[in-house]
Amino acid sequence: MNYFSLNRKAPTVSFKEAVINGIAPDKGLYFPETITKLPEDFFSSLKDFSKEDIAFQLIEQFVGSDIDLVSLERIIEETLSFDFPLVQLSDQISSLELFHGPTMAFKDVGARFMARCLGHFAENTNTSQEVTVLVATSGDTGGAVASGFLAVEGVKVVILYPSGKVSDIQEKQLTTLGQNITALEVEGTFDDCQAIVKNAFVDENITSNMQLTSANSINVARWLPQSFYFAYAYKLLENKEKPIVFSVPSGNFGNICAGMIAHKLGMPVSHFVASVNSNDVIPRFLLNGKYEPKKSVATISNAMDVGDPSNFIRIRELFNQDTSKLSELFSSYSFTDTQTKAAMKHIYVDYNYIADPHGAVGYLGLQKYLKNNVEAQGVFLETAHPIKFLDVVEETIQQKITIPEDIQQLIKKKKVAIPIKNYEEFKAYMLQSK
Ligand SMILES: *Cc1c(COP(=O)(O)O)cnc(C)c1O
Repeated sequence: MNYFSLNRKAPTVSFKEAVINGIAPDKGLYFPETITKLPEDFFSSLKDFSKEDIAFQLIEQFVGSDIDLVSLERIIEETLSFDFPLVQLSDQISSLELFHGPTMAFKDVGARFMARCLGHFAENTNTSQEVTVLVATSGDTGGAVASGFLAVEGVKVVILYPSGKVSDIQEKQLTTLGQNITALEVEGTFDDCQAIVKNAFVDENITSNMQLTSANSINVARWLPQSFYFAYAYKLLENKEKPIVFSVPSGNFGNICAGMIAHKLGMPVSHFVASVNSNDVIPRFLLNGKYEPKKSVATISNAMDVGDPSNFIRIRELFNQDTSKLSELFSSYSFTDTQTKAAMKHIYVDYNYIADPHGAVGYLGLQKYLKNNVEAQGVFLETAHPIKFLDVVEETIQQKITIPEDIQQLIKKKKVAIPIKNYEEFKAYMLQSK
């Protein structure tokens, strides 16, 4: 399987190169050259397949010959070593819980898969050079990457996070692991962290001394494996007669784009809803055909505070840039924090279910779609555990939530982070650590 750059100026590369490069040299996102439908009877016989089998069928063609089948099976098994329950709230609505992994957000799936792919590549190259993964985080990505890459041989991870701007749990998740994971606490904002990372990739003093790669959501090894749980939810749905709609709380649109890959592979889905907070670039685009990126605004569903969603270009590519074709399968709705809190309250009171702010936005999008499509049934993705957003959840539902034992343990652990003031300090750290 080869990947081409969506900027169409860089050469095509194999899966392995796409994973190691992260982004193409012309700054374009990688996209698979072909997407081949799975056999007709695959999706109708899912009940006979385990979650590992399903993931294998969905990802195999995208990996191609770069990873042998036995290793790919092992990578999938290790990646998916937790549950993906589908919780039914009503006749029409179910929640697909993606927060049962080690850092309690769906990003565990992509991060764990990518980490194991890189580890496999490092094991099987003759050069002894380590790969250094550099990643900036506003919260969830850092924890998922730290946990996913922990103890992977031949891979070093450097995470930059903005001091004082991530939650307690998030900070502990990325500063307490040690081993091959280093946290840099940057005096500044998430944008400052991202600027340092971008700078590093074009700094020859750094790139000539180490093999750098990025672990953000545009990497194909983080993006593509996410299609698995859409198919797994389809397996778990009891009634497959009614049209099925997925609502995905979206920020960079990688998760929903992976769901649309599952559809492209033949999964029967009638519609996808990208549910967003006040960062509404995509709903506006669908209304007036103009793509106008904006500076992001802060909301209570902060993992979706994105003003220029990087993966949307992949969704457009799936439809050859034809917006009217896209609109047949895809809608996007925006909701305010006030609406999100009201939804959290309503979900709790009416269904005795606790949603986090991201899941609640997903619920709202689904509800809106079902209003005009009463014959359909829907699944919204619950992308994070409500405990990650403890303050706003407790305040909204007026109820204390119990903190799981492993989180209590985590909070007690000692944070280890290297303070960084500016690019010069960062660079000095990188060069002395190589
Ligand atoms: C990252 C994240 C999202 C957004 O996912 P995208 O793939 O960027 O659209 C939604 N919810 C949570 C909890 C997240 O961490």
